[in-house]
Amino acid sequence: MTNSPNPQTWHALTIDDAIAILDVNPEVGLEGWQITDRQTVYGRNELNGKAGRTKLSIFIDQFTNVMLLMLMGVALVSAGLDLRMGQFPKDAIAISAIVILNGILGYVQESRAEDALAALKKMAAPNVRVLREGKVTEVLSAELVIGDIVFLDAGMQIAADGRLLEAVKLKVREGSLTGESQGVNKFADQLFDADESLGDRRNMVFQGTEVLQGRGMMLVTATGMQTELGKIANLLQDVELEETPLQKRMGELSKALVIASLIFVALVIAIGLSRSGNFVNLLNTSLSMAVAAVPEGLPAVITVTLALGTQRMVRRNALIRKLPAVETLGSVTMICSDKTGTLTQNKMVAENIFTNSYTAQVSGTGYEPIGEFAIARLAGDMLASDISVYQCAELQLLLAASAICNDSYLQKRPAVSQSPSQSNHRQLNRLNEQINGHAQWKIIGDPTEGALLTLAGKANLWQAQCTHYFTRVAEIPFTSERKLMSAIAAIKNIAAEDTPESMRTIAALLPNQPYFLFCKGSPELVLSRCDRIQVDKAINFISISQRTAINIQNTLLASKGMRVLGFAYLPLDHLPTEEELTNIENNLVWLGLVGIRDALRAEAAAAVQVSRQAGIHTTMITGDHQLTAQAIARDLNIFYPDCDRVLTGQEIELMSDDELTAISSKTSVYARVSPEHKLRIVQALQRRGEVVAMTGDGVNDAPALKQANIGIAMGMTGTDVSKEASDMILLDDNYATIVAATEEGRTVYANIRRFIKYILGSNVGEVIAIASTPFLNVNSIPLTPLQILWMNLVTDGVPALALAVEPSEDDVMQHPPFHPQENIFARGLGWYILRIGVVFGLQTIALMELIYNSDNPAWQAHWKTITFTTLCIAQMGHALACRSDSKLIIELNPIANPYLLISVVFTTILQLSLLYVPPFRDFFGTDALSLPELSLCFGFSLLLVLWVETEKLVSRWWAKRRITENLP
Ligand code: ADP
Ligand code: MG
Repeated sequence: MTNSPNPQTWHALTIDDAIAILDVNPEVGLEGWQITDRQTVYGRNELNGKAGRTKLSIFIDQFTNVMLLMLMGVALVSAGLDLRMGQFPKDAIAISAIVILNGILGYVQESRAEDALAALKKMAAPNVRVLREGKVTEVLSAELVIGDIVFLDAGMQIAADGRLLEAVKLKVREGSLTGESQGVNKFADQLFDADESLGDRRNMVFQGTEVLQGRGMMLVTATGMQTELGKIANLLQDVELEETPLQKRMGELSKALVIASLIFVALVIAIGLSRSGNFVNLLNTSLSMAVAAVPEGLPAVITVTLALGTQRMVRRNALIRKLPAVETLGSVTMICSDKTGTLTQNKMVAENIFTNSYTAQVSGTGYEPIGEFAIARLAGDMLASDISVYQCAELQLLLAASAICNDSYLQKRPAVSQSPSQSNHRQLNRLNEQINGHAQWKIIGDPTEGALLTLAGKANLWQAQCTHYFTRVAEIPFTSERKLMSAIAAIKNIAAEDTPESMRTIAALLPNQPYFLFCKGSPELVLSRCDRIQVDKAINFISISQRTAINIQNTLLASKGMRVLGFAYLPLDHLPTEEELTNIENNLVWLGLVGIRDALRAEAAAAVQVSRQAGIHTTMITGDHQLTAQAIARDLNIFYPDCDRVLTGQEIELMSDDELTAISSKTSVYARVSPEHKLRIVQALQRRGEVVAMTGDGVNDAPALKQANIGIAMGMTGTDVSKEASDMILLDDNYATIVAATEEGRTVYANIRRFIKYILGSNVGEVIAIASTPFLNVNSIPLTPLQILWMNLVTDGVPALALAVEPSEDDVMQHPPFHPQENIFARGLGWYILRIGVVFGLQTIALMELIYNSDNPAWQAHWKTITFTTLCIAQMGHALACRSDSKLIIELNPIANPYLLISVVFTTILQLSLLYVPPFRDFFGTDALSLPELSLCFGFSLLLVLWVETEKLVSRWWAKRRITENLP
């Protein structure tokens, strides 16, 4: 079956025909051997046409950089000068070689960074829920094959093309394919002409499009490059390296430096000529100066630092999708975190039930459906503690409702089969283990619903059984806005011989009608839609006191930090039409409440504490009840009852944007919110100048994630749509990971500042030294452009790279965040660069004067090499000193950053090899120095280090004095 049927025609086929062609049993799904066969024939479900920036354009981009252009200009001029003098243009060739080498290095770095980012994106590849071998399982989307039956849920990105088998209020956004950004409704039961256009094939769904709402099931008709998306895959834009704000600013800085140095070159020549200087000498001086002024090594070091930063973050489970996030993370001032699953474990256990007549406390752990019901009657004979759940019809009806109005599955892990044909299966089992841990029982779907299935199972009520007698025929899906879900079931088979006792009991409670709507959701909302209540076999109107009692039960459970769901039902004499469905959740019969415990994540409280010390506020956002949210926030120290407040979605609705901004400073918990409130919350916080990191998982969270400075999606439970909108993905859905990522972000930023001061300080020093030579008593400039380039790229560049991996200082998370718009030269960095540059320059000038005018003819002869070597060695000491702003070199642990030690030793050896290895010596135009001369270089180099260390001591002394004497 290598030829798949003509893909154009699937939308013209009935479901039965499609099923027949693809040879799949719609009740069971594909069999193991079919899957293996089809995977062999059609390959993996992947798009391999990866476009975006081609390798060639990455390469060409390297040479459009102004710094390299300037260097090429320098090479040309230098070649002209040499040729005029009848000399071999050695420097020009060397500079060109360096330019090309630099271009290649830049190319390698950038394409590797792009590949790494693409690989990271793959790590976030979605799982899909399929029906295979009679069971619902989750597989990687790459493992889908033609004929698979795939479940579609709101928020998911569709993983293959398919013919719909079922569609419930299904709305899909097909922008990626048709350009139409509005959602289109999809239907399973319509047929279309064979030549219908792609956008109008309403019974088909296509790879890469997104489910906006509703639910459905599709039969996969095309995978991989055969899909509609695959056909245009080459047109798709792929991962792109976005420049971070800092990179942009550094790009501007180097442009400014290039322009400034060119102007300077012109000035020096003009002034020099007017004072009848030698043109060639002047040109040589100014060329050296131009090369010296520009930090050629800097962009590469920044790129590498950011790339290393993303790698460290992913090791801590934070996956960066957009490079600028690495920097922004360092200046986050506010983390708005979802409660469910991020601060809590999202391992739900239903513990309490309230119906009209009973209250039950249920034991058990995890999703294993084993536990005891401790039941008490609420009315009359208060303490009858040995009631069995099987005697309480009211309870049983509620439990059955929770299993029928449910989109999830509870499964017992099958024994692992050893047959070789099922190797796929074993792999899936491993995957499942990764997702669900090693527990015997696992859920597929929403943990809240899973907890309900487990609860029902504890009373021996199983979903499969319930839906056999109450078959689902229609539904109104749950959304975070509605906070309600309803399923409509047709009662069937109940009169059969073998109907179990429990089902008969339940049916006996219900009025004699063919259909029933079962509704669950936020208790306030469900109750507001009820006008009657189930009391044993009777249905009564709800009295005020009953409503009050229910509200008290609700607040009681919520204030213990539980998520509470209300349940109700409605008998129906006919199957409601689409029209009727929109308004059907009214006049319901109240069944009861279930309280579900969701334990805190063990590491969350500590992480909240760390972020508080770091000046980062944490705010909880949840769709749950305000009391639930408040109780959990209090346990985590996010909420302090004396000074903080809880704001609900309802209150937000009534506020203007300005009011919301004003009140947000005191609010640490937002409860009962909908996704659209999240957007307003981010905007309100941003108006107050906060840098907001916000989490989200649903489809409708995408706008808020985009608006936030850092949009964070959930790796495990998040929808594909939210991941697509995010800057960062939490692979473990864990709040603590956000805090870890901000720590890494701060470290990256601190390291970038560290090597910028190191590199630019040296550039300023070089410029001063060279610019002063015309005014000194020396015969020419000390350094050739080639030597300067060597310093800027190699002897400064290598230690700078090592400074980029400096571990974070102990206090990174103990000071408030720095302003994101802060100039990189802020907090004294610019002054430091100038100061150190001047010291460096003066020291070099003194050295040149001293040796050139000394009585020692050897010193005189070697003065250029001595200057060159001293500059390089001085920077080695400076690199060691740059590790800390406040601690002396001798106070730092030398092996905390072994790379720095290695790079300093290595670079020193390289520099010495320029003096003592003859071919290098010829090439760089140096001399072999004697031991005393070398000692002079090392001795002078020490001066700079001593200066920097003295500065630290002075500023420490000053800070101490300021504290003790209370100076400003
Ligand atoms: P969160 O932001 O904490 O994830 P949700 O928006 O998922 O909150 O849920 C909000 C409320 O909706 C819950 O407090 C609960 O009452 C109700 N709810 C949650 N899940 C379901 C569900 N599957 N079916 C019906 N109601 C639900
Ligand atoms: Mg939720």
